Amino acid sequence: MPNLSELLNLYMSSEPFLPFTRPSFDQETIDAVAAVLRSGWVTSGPKLLEFETTLSEYFHGRPVRCFANGTATMRIALQIAGIGIGDEVITTPISWVATSNVILGVGAKPIFVDIDAVTRNIDLNKVSAAITPKTRAIMPVHLAGLPVDMDQLYALSKQNNLRIIEDAAQAFGSQWKGERIGSFGDLVSFSFQANKNLTTIEGGCLVLNNINEAKFAEKLRLQGLTRQGMDGMDVDILGGKDNLTDINAVIGLQQLKKLSTYQARRVVLARRYFNAIREKLKSTGLHNLHLELPVENFIDSNWHMFQVVLPLEQLNCDRAQVMTELKDLGIGTGVHYPAITGFTLYKDQGYKTLDTPVAERIGRSILTLPLFPDMADEDIDRIASGIVGILKKYSKI
Ligand SMILES: *Cc1c(COP(=O)(O)O)cnc(C)c1O
Repeated sequence: MPNLSELLNLYMSSEPFLPFTRPSFDQETIDAVAAVLRSGWVTSGPKLLEFETTLSEYFHGRPVRCFANGTATMRIALQIAGIGIGDEVITTPISWVATSNVILGVGAKPIFVDIDAVTRNIDLNKVSAAITPKTRAIMPVHLAGLPVDMDQLYALSKQNNLRIIEDAAQAFGSQWKGERIGSFGDLVSFSFQANKNLTTIEGGCLVLNNINEAKFAEKLRLQGLTRQGMDGMDVDILGGKDNLTDINAVIGLQQLKKLSTYQARRVVLARRYFNAIREKLKSTGLHNLHLELPVENFIDSNWHMFQVVLPLEQLNCDRAQVMTELKDLGIGTGVHYPAITGFTLYKDQGYKTLDTPVAERIGRSILTLPLFPDMADEDIDRIASGIVGILKKYSKI
């Protein structure tokens, strides 16, 4: 397992180096953090309440509660939905491993349904066949911020009486038919980890259906406390320690103010990627190379990531080679994600990557290129040249 210093080496090597993502913080944010530090109240307090109220307004009045990270947020969503031992939850094999880890964590069983090769999200057409009497919920992921078909998702929920827990960790600011992801639906979980479009460094929030669920969420995030005060204390269920601090909350409040500017910049950069890559492939004579680009949706997606799928069958190299050569050009890339079913923990429980062949292939060939608001237009052109140059070098066609 890579330790922290190995990870730092991997992602923060030689200058000038373009990482695959980097958060933006301005002076106003730094000042706001300093003000909280000086205020005398640094853990969960007034700034958290203000952040939750602002988020609730953002999600058209639905209740919102924040947590220490996106993983805790999803675990608490499963607990609120009453999912536990003996239950099955349908999910995707192409996600950050937290998605299925939390399902295992509450004692339930993840059921992996293959992904769609174009959207790279769970293939909702294949969900019905995976439903059994034990199925309690579907946990889709809006990968890279591209939402799953929400009409189809909620129709499946209604027809089969299933809870929906959206892993919208990557989808803050995404929308569906003009409605923000999170402003409708069942339980919707976001992450504010440092790589996400809106960050509190670490953190997450859950959009809930009603005030009873919100109260339950508050209890679960603080030891299961039912009351605390002059008249004593009581605990009636096992809760955790999953609260978000005011330091994190104030960063979130600042980020929210800038979100639409960041978002607009991501769209400009994503558009430029499509043009630059296509142009380069053409001028290099590689139009028969099947480099798969993302879905060209500039309306619904928040462009959390720009991911290509490498045509490995047409190349004399593997993905690691492409990543190494891009790194030598000062360009950082990432893999989001290998199929979860290939991890030892999951293999040991009998899961097989080849049970979901599309996910197996994409998990092996997907590559995340740099995309974050502070990038320059020229960065995109340089990356497009870099990657197409490497493809040319190793092309079999
Ligand atoms: C980031 C992320 C999570 C987990 O969020 P943390 O805040 O890191 O715990 C879960 N699912 C997906 C798809 C993510 O990208």
